[in-house]
Amino acid sequence: MKEPSVDVDPRKVAEHELGPVDWQEGGTWGYCKCPGAHLHNKPTRHRDCRVYMDGAPRIYCLHSSCSRTLMTAADELRGSVRALCPEGSLPPRSLPTPEELERRRSKNAALAAALSITEDWAKDWSQWRWPLEDLYRSNPRQGATQTDFFREMWSPSDVVWVGEAHHSGPPYYKRWMTADDWAHMPDPLPERFGHFICPSTFQPGAMHRRKEHLLSCPFVIAEADSLSEDPVENLSRNLAAIRFLRDRAGWNLRAVIFSGSKSYHGWFDLPAGGHDHAVPLLKAIGCDPAAARPTQPVRRPGAMRDGVEQKLCWLSHSGKP
Ligand SMILES: [Zn+2]
Repeated sequence: MKEPSVDVDPRKVAEHELGPVDWQEGGTWGYCKCPGAHLHNKPTRHRDCRVYMDGAPRIYCLHSSCSRTLMTAADELRGSVRALCPEGSLPPRSLPTPEELERRRSKNAALAAALSITEDWAKDWSQWRWPLEDLYRSNPRQGATQTDFFREMWSPSDVVWVGEAHHSGPPYYKRWMTADDWAHMPDPLPERFGHFICPSTFQPGAMHRRKEHLLSCPFVIAEADSLSEDPVENLSRNLAAIRFLRDRAGWNLRAVIFSGSKSYHGWFDLPAGGHDHAVPLLKAIGCDPAAARPTQPVRRPGAMRDGVEQKLCWLSHSGKP
């Protein structure tokens, strides 16, 4: 084997060939600019492409149109590292931890379960039709108000965010209050309080609607605004999807809120297995995975949207004291 003439850090070689790399986990891998970014047919985002420097260097990108260019770039990078860096200068390829393996296994199992359930949905979704008048008639909390919503969904001391989507950061610290405080506000809340609410609870003192400030994610939201081009049909399928999740998947429905436009939001207790289990099923029946994100602002009941109420249509009894 040829002895390398200079001792070069393999990461420097990667940076020389790929440009700046945002190294993670002690430099075993990092985010880089995709060498085939000019071939992407969707917008390129900051963290689309990764280079791995454990074992033989590898490059992965979320886009597929750049794959040939990536293969060439990875070949060249491996060649340069072989030529320039001392043998053994790269750590061995890291094996996934038992926790990571378990997480992957559980995610795959959830995906398989979701797919088997969704065959029923694909065959005939209409058996889960939930006409609006039936939904209203079956509402366990007839006439429930915004105050009831805050009392029913959270514990009094839970910190809950209400606002407009951009209300995040220190100037907006008043957007976070306890569920009990919100329940004591005027009902309905004045419009200046914004149109949105976040289903997760936040750490006391939180001032950013970000993942790292969350305390718990008690709910997952099912919303579908593109099941049909026809708005009326879309609303009908959206309600069927909510009923499917309750009656076929066995999720615990807590509330249904009309978005004031073309969709309903089904608020469910986060099912066992968490988002890894819930999101594949939501996606498979055409719900928007973005609405299920823990930090996502969703339509607040009682606010008006272009003159239409974002209405609380259905609210469960939580059984909380
Ligand atoms: Zn790419």
